[in-house]
Amino acid sequence: MDVRRTPMRRCIACMTSYPKDELIRLTVKDEIIIRDGDKAADGRGYYICPRKACLEKVIRKKVFNRILRRNMNLNQIEEVIGNIVDTEVIDGKED
Ligand SMILES: [Zn+2]
Repeated sequence: MDVRRTPMRRCIACMTSYPKDELIRLTVKDEIIIRDGDKAADGRGYYICPRKACLEKVIRKKVFNRILRRNMNLNQIEEVIGNIVDTEVIDGKED
């Protein structure tokens, strides 16, 4: 096991800090939310737990509108998040 300290990031939905590697990174480019698969895209990153509850909260509570202080395209965000829910969510991992 690698025991070096991993940077912690806070989930924008539940506000809990987790090691960066365990979270899904999103970034904003030209007013569009994108899934940053390589965690290397330019721009500020926003992190979310790979849990359905957190992902759904981001949509339901319009979290990005609040963070970015503007009206984002909610359909677009829903599409990106929906895709993550379908492919990356590890459910039942709550502790
Ligand atoms: Zn979370």
